[in-house]
Amino acid sequence: MKFIVKLRDGVEQMVPYQPGKPAEAVEREYGIKRAVKLASNENPYGPSPLVIKAIKKTSGQLGRYPDGSCYQLREALAQKFRCQPNTIILGNGTNELLILLGLAVLNKNDQVLTSDLTFVVYPKVAQLTQAELVTVPLKKQTYDLDKMAQAITDKTKLIFIANPNNPTGTALEPMQLIRFIKSVPTTCLVVLDEAYYEYMDQAFQTPSLEWVRQQSNLVILRTFSKAYGLADLRLGYGLVAPELYQAIERVREPFNVNSLAQVAGLAALQDQLYMEKCVKTAKKERTKLSQGLSDLGLKVIPSQANFIYVDISGIKRLHQPTGQACYEKLITRGMIIRPMPGPFVRITVGKPQENKKLLAAFKTL
Ligand SMILES: *Cc1c(COP(=O)(O)O)cnc(C)c1O
Repeated sequence: MKFIVKLRDGVEQMVPYQPGKPAEAVEREYGIKRAVKLASNENPYGPSPLVIKAIKKTSGQLGRYPDGSCYQLREALAQKFRCQPNTIILGNGTNELLILLGLAVLNKNDQVLTSDLTFVVYPKVAQLTQAELVTVPLKKQTYDLDKMAQAITDKTKLIFIANPNNPTGTALEPMQLIRFIKSVPTTCLVVLDEAYYEYMDQAFQTPSLEWVRQQSNLVILRTFSKAYGLADLRLGYGLVAPELYQAIERVREPFNVNSLAQVAGLAALQDQLYMEKCVKTAKKERTKLSQGLSDLGLKVIPSQANFIYVDISGIKRLHQPTGQACYEKLITRGMIIRPMPGPFVRITVGKPQENKKLLAAFKTL
């Protein structure tokens, strides 16, 4: 029997997310031994040993539903950020929170404003809710806040800003950012996605947690997926006004954060030193990798995250100077990176050995 149920408006036009190929798949397909994946911006060292210990201790209880309120993790985050527990939202990754925020505020025909070439999930939120997506071009690979301010209309209901931006790695100047946020009508939600906050230099680290106290339409999103090395367990959090917290409570599913993620998040918070060590290594390696690629004649956009965005038009051995062609060459050498539109690729900063291997592979091109 043929499937003829009509999909919801807009779903036909949506495109499934294309994840980076897992290293094992590349090893199988190309007959390679140790493929290196530098495509999804994870912490190459994974979580703190305290996290592994905490998870091993809990796994006897999988038959029960988790604590839907995430009591302990919420309390720990509230303490860390000196805020009330009812201003923290938790989700199955920041990805889920992005969608929940859309479901909480967007009506059909509202406008969602963001940049082009930014996090792929933002357009999805608009498509899911049948809101209208409005995008503004990047300026020097960075969000163009002036043009975005000009693009605000009385239909603009939600603004997404990734800071630093994925895939370009660029960060906004804090004074300029707060000026923009204050200029947005208070009836419009501003979602500041700080998934890579921990990797930013101090001069770029905004006092966003103070801003959110003063600015009821501001949402700060962070994640355990990157610096804390917990991408697999899916755990993201956000700081919001209590009224928005209440709205998210209404729209979210009852058990959106599993107990292993809760336990892991709690343990990860208790080992800040481990996270800071990982970040320090990543920043050092980011500098070395950027320098190495520059020395080969490639243009590297200065990054404030754990990945770099590289213009590969300097490579002469490609039939076409596209990110896709570069990706295809590198994958046969066991290196998995992320192709981007035009002559660009995005490369996650890996362990020192992995970065060396990548530089060597680039050299052969
Ligand atoms: C990786 C990333 C996230 C984190 O997503 P999770 O669902 O928490 O893993 C959020 N925003 C941006 C821009 C990212 O690159």
